[in-house]
Amino acid sequence: SNGAMSNNTNGGISLINRWNGKPYSQRYYDILDKRKNLPVWHQKEEFLQVLKKNQVIILVGETGSGKTTQVCSLFFSFSLVCLLYIPQFVLEAVDLESPDKRRKMMIGCTQPRRVAAMSVSRRVAEEMDVTIGEEVGYSIRFEDCSSARTVLKYLTDGMLLREAMTDPLLERYKVVILDEAHERTLSTDVLFGLLKEVLKNRPDLKLVVMSATLEAEKFQGYFGEAPLMKVPGRLHPVEIFYTQEPERDYLEAAIRTVVQIHLCEPLGDILVFLTGEEEIEDACRKITKEVGNLGDQVGPVKVVPLYSTLPPAMQQKIFDPAPPPLQEGGPSGRKIVVSTNIAETSLTIDGIVYVIDPGFSKQKVYNPRVRVESLLVSPISKASAHQRSGRAGRTQPGKCFRLYTEKSFNQDLQPQTYPEILRSNLANTVLTLKKLGIDDLVHFDFMDPPAPETLMRALEVLNYLGALDDEGNLTKLGEIMSEFPLDPQLSKMLVVSPEFNCSNEILSISAMLSGHHQQLSCMGPMPPDGMYHRILIPNCFVRPREAHKAADEAKARFGHIDGDHLTLLNVYHAYKQNNEDPSWCYENFVNHRALKAADNVRQQLVRIMARFNLKLCSTDFNSRDYYINIRKAILAGYFMQVAHLEHSGHYLTVKDNQVVHLHPSNCLDHKPEWVVYNEYVLTSRNYIRTVVDIRGEWLVDIAPHYYDLQNFPQCEAKRVLEKLYRKREREREENRNRK
Ligand code: ADP
Ligand code: MG
Repeated sequence: SNGAMSNNTNGGISLINRWNGKPYSQRYYDILDKRKNLPVWHQKEEFLQVLKKNQVIILVGETGSGKTTQVCSLFFSFSLVCLLYIPQFVLEAVDLESPDKRRKMMIGCTQPRRVAAMSVSRRVAEEMDVTIGEEVGYSIRFEDCSSARTVLKYLTDGMLLREAMTDPLLERYKVVILDEAHERTLSTDVLFGLLKEVLKNRPDLKLVVMSATLEAEKFQGYFGEAPLMKVPGRLHPVEIFYTQEPERDYLEAAIRTVVQIHLCEPLGDILVFLTGEEEIEDACRKITKEVGNLGDQVGPVKVVPLYSTLPPAMQQKIFDPAPPPLQEGGPSGRKIVVSTNIAETSLTIDGIVYVIDPGFSKQKVYNPRVRVESLLVSPISKASAHQRSGRAGRTQPGKCFRLYTEKSFNQDLQPQTYPEILRSNLANTVLTLKKLGIDDLVHFDFMDPPAPETLMRALEVLNYLGALDDEGNLTKLGEIMSEFPLDPQLSKMLVVSPEFNCSNEILSISAMLSGHHQQLSCMGPMPPDGMYHRILIPNCFVRPREAHKAADEAKARFGHIDGDHLTLLNVYHAYKQNNEDPSWCYENFVNHRALKAADNVRQQLVRIMARFNLKLCSTDFNSRDYYINIRKAILAGYFMQVAHLEHSGHYLTVKDNQVVHLHPSNCLDHKPEWVVYNEYVLTSRNYIRTVVDIRGEWLVDIAPHYYDLQNFPQCEAKRVLEKLYRKREREREENRNRK
């Protein structure tokens, strides 16, 4: 090993990057100086010592202390390689260039959010002076930016779970880091249980659990009293302000507060927490406009949005410096970041002095009674509010403006985040666990076990879909379904689509339905009834405020009178026919990014289809059956999400008997007797969104096991179905008689 060392070091300073053999750039040394100031930097040695003696470590530290960037990149230092590879170290060290060796010595660091995985890996690649996708990479759903050279990989927790499906002992990793553990996302919670098992079979594997807030004792207890390391925080004091009265419109209040700060407060950047893409873009436009109206008495502002579907190059802008004064000696500029929860703990933006916290985030809520999972804008928790205010005190004392009353903070906000596993539909998770070979779900070591009803519901759904047999074992169909990174209904629809001779079209529809899947914000409590504010729609249609009419007309041109799924298909086809032209998108009020994303998703789904020899086929477009087959295939996946039009003129969901309304965004020109819906939106009114017209006969033909009238609540739908069954029975009899 001495030989290798002396080649690469000179007076204790490394000049050659050991991992790619290139000399370090000046930028490397510049960033190195910054890194040396991070609290985690000073505890590297201690960390290595603890890691050497233990299989699991819990690491807790304030956001911005360098956990995500510095702990992971430790692997790039010689010492961690030594630690993990003694005694075979000599051999390995010489062989760092061999991809084969690298493959089994990876370090994987999970992030609950895609944006964080991308952004942090880019930063670390820069810090390590390597090209992103080579030594340092990332992997998120539908996008893999890593290679055989990759030794440090940031990936979403969902992706690590997917990897475990083919690599149950996670053998490619030497260290797994579960970052942002305090977020308690569904996938991280499942990974806890899974890794606990894997560690028993892999004595050489190390696990690091990293968390921002202090749920740490809970993690410690769960992992058999693993040592806890605390990185001392270096937060400056943050003064908290509340509103005197509740705000009617938090968006308007947030914008007003930004302008006030810019007018009256000393220099320092502003961070505003909002809930999603549309709201954030809207706020950015308004802030820019209102500050513009103030004239040149005030300094210039640079307003930057941050949300999960923003393209990576735009995400980077949050790290740009504030703009300089317009003219020399003039008032200085300010950066204003308008972000989702991503900026709460996942990404640290230096220089923030003012935080505006309206008290809301978009959260997943599951209602097992009606089996509906929705994303709702809901009040955050006290812990979350505390994290948000902390963002103002990273570099100097700061101020946090909470756009709610102190009374509301004390009385209405829940103390802690409710783990996502307790507010999710678990069908997908159960399918994954089954695929991982975990059959006994009741005894699986969940940190917070989900309600038995929720597990039962999930098993039942998978059984109806044919993914599990009556004994709860994975079927052949279930095996294939589990390979698709999609909800079980969606993957079922895809897998059976060749039987309806329309897999090409179903692929396009599936991609359109999941292409701009919104990243979930998972902090915060269950919202009390009636607290839902704005519901945001991920949408491939653009509807700018100043051009409502033109946008609606454009959308109507794509509209298919039989349903929104078919409209989405029309949009996709038109996009392809127009050569994916961005200006065509612009002229037709179609979101180019959403379409591009969908197209990318489609290509990946095609690859999975090919792996299982699922045929790509289409019904002749001129055939009367073209759209009928597509609608039938949709039903084959979504037969549990059907609503029936009652004589009263209302829709009732089948079996659950909930009154629902067609979402105003629908494209139908009539009220069909039966519809399949993709989404159930809970507000003061219950809407079903993305609906398609289907026929009652198809229910009887395609899903008789679900539409089994023996255990069916009394309702109009049941009486109609009884007639349909009798009709089918008569037809069968006539057929027999004819023969
Ligand atoms: P933690 O995981 O403890 O919250 P991080 O490791 O994410 O902290 O960040 C440590 C520091 O690295 C931050 O305070 C920030 O200054 C810096 N940093 C992280 N990402 C970037 C980036 N993309 N550009 C500039 N600085 C960054
Ligand atoms: Mg972090």
